[in-house]
Amino acid sequence: MVGLTFPPSRDAALKRLAQFVPDAGRRYDSGRNTDAGPDHPGAVSRLSPYLRHRLITEREVIAQVLARHDLDAAGKFVQEVLWRTYWKGWLEMRPSVWLRFLEERDQQRDAFPAGRAIVKAENGQTGIEGFDDWARELVETGYLHNHARMWFASIWIFTLRLPWTLGADFFLRHLLDADAASNTLSWRWVAGLQTAGKTYLATADNIARYTNGRFTPKGLAREAFALTEAPFEAARGLMETPRHDPARPSILLVTHDDMHPESSFDGAADIRSIIVAADGELLWGDGARRFVDVAAAETAVRAGAHCICAANLVERLDAQALIAAANAAGVKQIVTPYAPVGPVADALAGLTPVLAREGVALAQVRRDWDSDFWPHAKKGFFPFKERIPAVLRDGGLI
Ligand SMILES: Cc1cc2nc3c(=O)[nH]c(=O)nc-3n(C[C@H](O)[C@H](O)[C@H](O)COP(=O)(O)OP(=O)(O)OC[C@H]3O[C@@H](n4cnc5c(N)ncnc54)[C@H](O)[C@@H]3O)c2cc1C
Repeated sequence: MVGLTFPPSRDAALKRLAQFVPDAGRRYDSGRNTDAGPDHPGAVSRLSPYLRHRLITEREVIAQVLARHDLDAAGKFVQEVLWRTYWKGWLEMRPSVWLRFLEERDQQRDAFPAGRAIVKAENGQTGIEGFDDWARELVETGYLHNHARMWFASIWIFTLRLPWTLGADFFLRHLLDADAASNTLSWRWVAGLQTAGKTYLATADNIARYTNGRFTPKGLAREAFALTEAPFEAARGLMETPRHDPARPSILLVTHDDMHPESSFDGAADIRSIIVAADGELLWGDGARRFVDVAAAETAVRAGAHCICAANLVERLDAQALIAAANAAGVKQIVTPYAPVGPVADALAGLTPVLAREGVALAQVRRDWDSDFWPHAKKGFFPFKERIPAVLRDGGLI
């Protein structure tokens, strides 16, 4: 699987984007469902680790694509990028879905009687063609094609009858793009929990067709009955973020949720120095930790050059490091890109009152991209999708 690597830098992301842009129209539309294997680039962009950590932003990816193709031709690609935005917005309004996933996963880890079945599935030793290959591919490369993720999750849940939370956890521990929203909500969608009653059933014919005949697994479940669960509380509104004072001298804090500070704070804050916190504790797997570690060092160099100020790496996102940096820079305000539901958001929520006691305000600043799209993620993807052209138009992208 030598063909599949993800150099952890913005340059690598930009290069990949530039190569992909000419194919983002009809070629993507007609070829995106085929997974030709890890050694074949196929029609998809493989940009997800970069987009997940915002080494490149959704806005710049879509801007470049729409500079080359019209929305009609590149509509499918634009829509796929916006699935990420949609899932993030949807979870933002229902954080209890994430919390319940974590709780159930921990309970299942302790209580599930067939621990050996999980080990066999994760090691690719079930004897199911394709499934075993994807398990190994995921561990070796940190990436799986979207269709392979769907087949894998479906077989995990409906053929092997393993708990979906442990499958989602396996993905989180190995994907370079591991993400609270996209992962949890996609697994829920396959299981029939996300769109109540609607499941995704992987079939041998579909797998054979879209793997170019590489796999025709036998013995797959023929039916997929939707899982059920206790109802959740009603969706909340989007969190109000405390406003920062753009004129006040500030430190910029960069986390692995948004590693392109150059595009989020230009002119919007008086940045005196930068801290890049590549906190591995806030990621789930070693592959993603290595990816983020290298990307963080590169981000610090980029961000420092952009702001013409000192940019330092810290290993932990902790209050003492931030207070020391604020004192050293003589500032009382720290600004940081808004962290969506997940471990970074939890860490920031814990830090805010501690910093406040020292007289340091921590302000999360949401990108226009999220502020413009998330309010439309209240319900299903269909009504969200209807809004896409208008929001792109208002944002000057078409
Ligand atoms: C069970 C399951 C688990 C998943 N877990 C994750 C995860 O943890 N992290 C993650 O980033 N994606 C996840 N996805 C979504 C999707 O599979 C990946 O984002 C996609 O495979 C990325 O490959 P690509 O960049 O080549 O995609 P392309 O087809 O080139 O798409 C371009 C971009 O659009 C976005 N995108 C495309 N498809 C989806 C989708 N279905 N949902 C959300 N965004 C999408 C991604 O940012 C992607 O980089 C999951 C999907 C499933 C079915």
